[in-house]
Amino acid sequence: MQDLLTEIAEAALANPDRGKVATYIPELAGVDPGQFGIAIATAGGEVLSAGDADVPFSIQSVSKVFALALALGRVGDQLWSRVGREPSGLSFDSVLLLERENGIPRNPFINAGALVTTDTYLSGSPPKEALGELVRFVRAAADDDSIHINEKVAQSEIATGHRNFSLAHYLASCGNLQASVDKVLGTYCHQCAVEMTCRQLAMAGRFLVDSPQMPALVSIERRRRINALMMTCGHYDGSGDFAFRVGMPGKSGVGGGILVISPGRASIAVWSPGLNRYGNSKLGTEAMETFARRTGWSVFGVSRDGGQGDL
Ligand code: GLU
Repeated sequence: MQDLLTEIAEAALANPDRGKVATYIPELAGVDPGQFGIAIATAGGEVLSAGDADVPFSIQSVSKVFALALALGRVGDQLWSRVGREPSGLSFDSVLLLERENGIPRNPFINAGALVTTDTYLSGSPPKEALGELVRFVRAAADDDSIHINEKVAQSEIATGHRNFSLAHYLASCGNLQASVDKVLGTYCHQCAVEMTCRQLAMAGRFLVDSPQMPALVSIERRRRINALMMTCGHYDGSGDFAFRVGMPGKSGVGGGILVISPGRASIAVWSPGLNRYGNSKLGTEAMETFARRTGWSVFGVSRDGGQGDL
């Protein structure tokens, strides 16, 4: 496994075709696209990594996984009266479907749905308290108290987040926000500004790996459902393509990070800041495709030709 990670990282670091770094959040525009890291936390308790796996990056929409777990912890299945569970087939920040579907976002991983999730875990408490709870959840999942929010990134997104403000106002006009637009947006942008390294993110994803040694932060049923949503909706309009190429549940962020779960086996984090046309890490996706092919890991069946099964 270590050899495979090293090989993948070396190939990615040498690849000149790196995709484009997100620029709509000014603070992210200056990140060096030459970086690539990968880390894996196995069910057996091992953590292996390669490349820039100890460089912190902005997890952005990967945070929506932790936010969803927190919101479900607050209100359980009542969440599904305010947000759907279907892929949208549209970009992460699309406004299109909201009007047609009366302010009920398609799923918790597109921005509109994530704003409802944030509003749900806010549930009347001051943003600082709610964010404290989110960070405590992530720290407990990763077993690492040094994980924090990058205030500069949060402020940078708040200052330029016109699209997200418009989504929030539309949700509010449909009666699908309880807190004020400013509170929800402020909390959401701070949540997205959580910073982690690949190593920390792989550790934090362990609560979604079905294994007795992993932190039990959510019930088995909830874990399966979060994984199902990651598979169907975790890469926006590139979700079908990611499922086709990788075959494991994953959630991406515009910071270039992807969290991938191999149920029963491992939590994997990959990061490279350049994005493909769907807004997902280009080299991260390609690396996961290679990883899945080489290990034979897929939720859709065991590969018998070439994949090496449980390394
Ligand atoms: N904070 C970002 C936004 O709302 C998250 C998007 C993403 O990571 O895909 O635009």
